Amino acid sequence: MDDMRLALLLNAVSPAVGGVLVRGEKGTAKSTAVRALAAVLPPVAVVAGCRFGCDPAAPDPDCPDGPHLTDSPAPQRPARLVELPVGASEDRLVGSLDIERALTEGVKSFEPGLLAAAHRGVLYVDEVNLLHDHLVDLLLDAAALGRAYVEREGVSVQHAARFLLVGTMNPEEGELRPQLLDRFGLTVEVAAPREPELRAEVVRRRFAADADPAGFSARWDVEETALADRIAEARERLPRVVLGDDALRQVTAVCAAFEVDGLRADIVTARAAIAHAAWSGRETVTEDDVRVAARLALPHRRRRNPFDAPGLDPDTLEQALDDARPEEPEDDPTPPEGDGGGRPEETGESAGETPPGREGTGSDADSTEAPPSAGDPVPPRGEADDTDGDTALPVPAPERAAVDPGEAFRARRLEVPGIGEGVAGRRSKARSDRGRVVGSRRPEGAVTRLHLVDTVVAAAPHQRARGRSGPGLRLQKEDLRQATLEGREGNLVLFVVDASGSMGSADRMAAVKGAVLSLLVDAYQRRDKVGLVTFRGSGAELALPPTWSVEAAAARLTGLPTGGRSPVAAGLLRAHETLRVEAVRDPRRRPLLVLVTDGRATGARGVDHLGEARRAAGLLRAAGTAGVVVDCEAGHVRLGLAGDLGAHLGARTLRLDELGAEQLVRTVKDAA
Ligand SMILES: [Zn+2]
Repeated sequence: MDDMRLALLLNAVSPAVGGVLVRGEKGTAKSTAVRALAAVLPPVAVVAGCRFGCDPAAPDPDCPDGPHLTDSPAPQRPARLVELPVGASEDRLVGSLDIERALTEGVKSFEPGLLAAAHRGVLYVDEVNLLHDHLVDLLLDAAALGRAYVEREGVSVQHAARFLLVGTMNPEEGELRPQLLDRFGLTVEVAAPREPELRAEVVRRRFAADADPAGFSARWDVEETALADRIAEARERLPRVVLGDDALRQVTAVCAAFEVDGLRADIVTARAAIAHAAWSGRETVTEDDVRVAARLALPHRRRRNPFDAPGLDPDTLEQALDDARPEEPEDDPTPPEGDGGGRPEETGESAGETPPGREGTGSDADSTEAPPSAGDPVPPRGEADDTDGDTALPVPAPERAAVDPGEAFRARRLEVPGIGEGVAGRRSKARSDRGRVVGSRRPEGAVTRLHLVDTVVAAAPHQRARGRSGPGLRLQKEDLRQATLEGREGNLVLFVVDASGSMGSADRMAAVKGAVLSLLVDAYQRRDKVGLVTFRGSGAELALPPTWSVEAAAARLTGLPTGGRSPVAAGLLRAHETLRVEAVRDPRRRPLLVLVTDGRATGARGVDHLGEARRAAGLLRAAGTAGVVVDCEAGHVRLGLAGDLGAHLGARTLRLDELGAEQLVRTVKDAA
């Protein structure tokens, strides 16, 4: 059985294991497997009419639909699979309080969200690494507490929300914040099957399912029933499974060998081992259970850098198991560990040191079953086929080997002018659902953020007409004002980097790379998407299509060879095309073009290269593309060609040494 199915099944047997994160490229049928799991979960009994899924045996005392009578009718329903779309609103996730009714009628009316729907079922987040930061926080809180809290304008509601969290992600598109990573009990890596025969089988099944859904599911029903029975048996066996001293010693030895952080790893590994024993029909945890559990519970808890290979080193695992293996088998296992299927203990690690988070945002979630890489903008054939490979430039051999980037520094914030409406981030100004209040308007739908002062002001003139005599404002629906908030959005930062020979010495190129690397780090912290176009020799290339993975961008940049002529126009046209495609995929995300060049356009004789570059710049300007030119001109004689290009782009031109954040401070002081 493959790891993914096994990990899901272990959670089905013991929800205390704490969920599964599935890492892998697109088109690996991740969501199909998750749906298949939900179908075999045992049904749950629910208090009739309760929208919050109360268990009749132990109804939630705070249930908004409660209190429930102990002898309420309790029909059974299948365990739910609830999908959280990455672009979901806060209200959609936690539910919404009807502020209108609260204020005008004095009624507390609550519409349950996805957390309520997922209670006692599965909460599935496809592309969890693209989930909005704010949603991640809400999700972590709910997962940690097993409850959801909603508070608006002083009215609050809470309800139970215990769910099996299953997430999928494509690591190429950016990593998960460590606290969120730790929240998943198990992780598995999946890859599309490489063998043609296996691939063909997947496709065949898919066609079969599409062509004859009923017949297909009938065939699978038999298997499902068997699986559901086995899960039920394993659940029933679970409380009797014994984790002996020896097995426990092996669990802790393995966790120590992989230098995992915190005790949570030991707890999850132990629980997964117990679940595996129950699943395998045993009542004692064996070394094999520990081995399987470690393989699933530890990979994401190791301290590692983004370039480390995924998974666990099997030799280290075997060595650790071996070292902790007892000399003589003992006949005296310790009493069972209490593991009855409650929530995992909290280890209090959810706050604390956070490297710049990167959960990205949701506007470009692609559907799961897309074929590999179908989510990327498709450049003309043959030009960017190597986005997964390690070489970035096509045919012409580099005239100069790639130089390593120079030292990175804290970059100043470059922003897109105007006010956008993109998903939250930390770069350019934007209307958003978070941020500071800048005004109010009449609500288009339900009020989500009340602007109290403006509401009172709107209601005040009507008080006499409404017959108010004593204290207490008489509010009506038309008085309500929605606050408008201004925060910041993330952007798409598209780097267009001149890698031609005119860019100067190796030292100079190192400085250029160091500067772009600094801007990349900055983009990561500001939750931007990044892309990289390079040009040199005979043309331009989309070295990295827009992605969340700043690591990938940094790797492409570091390996970028330089030399040859300088086809600036080709670079700008390539950028223009890339942005056009991206605007279709992710229309709300405003782009920022960062052109890094000395502006010396060169190429074949008899062509006005400078003129072509200016025309290409004009095209971008006409499309309303915001940009910055980073002038890399070196030497005593300055031509100022980059500034000229900047003018045609309608963009500011900055010198390389003006990119640092400190530089900004100094300039401001000089001006004062
Ligand atoms: Zn209830």
